[in-house]
Amino acid sequence: MKYVTIYAKPDILKPVKTIDDLKRIRDWLSGLNIKVGKAPPGMKKLLTELKFVQKQFDTIDEYADSKFMTPEQKKAFTDSAIRNINATLSRLTEEDINKIDTKLGKKEAEPDTIKQGSTTYINNSNLNFKKFKSLVSDMEGYLKKLKSFHKKVVTVKPLTIRFVKKDLSKTAAKYKQDKDEVWIRPDSKKIIKGDGYASFYYVLVHELGHRYDYFIKQKTDFDKPKWYTTKYSRTDSIAGSESFAELFALSHFGVKKYPEYEKQIKEFLDKVTK
Ligand SMILES: [Zn+2]
Repeated sequence: MKYVTIYAKPDILKPVKTIDDLKRIRDWLSGLNIKVGKAPPGMKKLLTELKFVQKQFDTIDEYADSKFMTPEQKKAFTDSAIRNINATLSRLTEEDINKIDTKLGKKEAEPDTIKQGSTTYINNSNLNFKKFKSLVSDMEGYLKKLKSFHKKVVTVKPLTIRFVKKDLSKTAAKYKQDKDEVWIRPDSKKIIKGDGYASFYYVLVHELGHRYDYFIKQKTDFDKPKWYTTKYSRTDSIAGSESFAELFALSHFGVKKYPEYEKQIKEFLDKVTK
């Protein structure tokens, strides 16, 4: 009994007749890892078939360039190669094609840039793509937690967050004012797990505080002892006012989490939104 098969990729299984048909198969093969030494489990027979098809293409190319063959000979050899391609592809089923695409398909490109809404993440660190993607998803989660005026730091202009290596940044994180980019070193030992002080989350909001300070001018001068909070808030920095960045972060996380700075946080919230 013969079944009518509906192919997932009917194009691949259509007989090769024209130059376009040849190109279609060629393109398909170029997206597959055919040159592997060892076939993935269960793929030995199919890989042999594909290697044979690839060989026909190599032969066609070889004949096309040959200076020793007449056009008639070239045509005869090419026709023979095409017959071989058709004979091989006609043995494949829809299931085979799916198996080939799944097991031999080249992995999608692993870009070093991920865009999420108006935020662009760039990976110049040693993170592999999987870890880069996972860190981006963490950061997205943190950005979503920004509310009211804190949120403006993201919406004021498209944001770029760049993950960098040690040689680009001595500190765990920084706001690069000249580029308007937040740089974070994922390998930094100073960054702790969780959402406490010095976590990725905290560090990100602190750096965004510098960005806020840069874009949204304040009537109050927060760079005064009155506004000092953490030890870090007293340090001098080229990124801008550390006391502002710390207040920006502390006020995001809230008095409950940082009760020791209740007074400054409350006053800051009062002043910054005015
Ligand atoms: Zn800072």
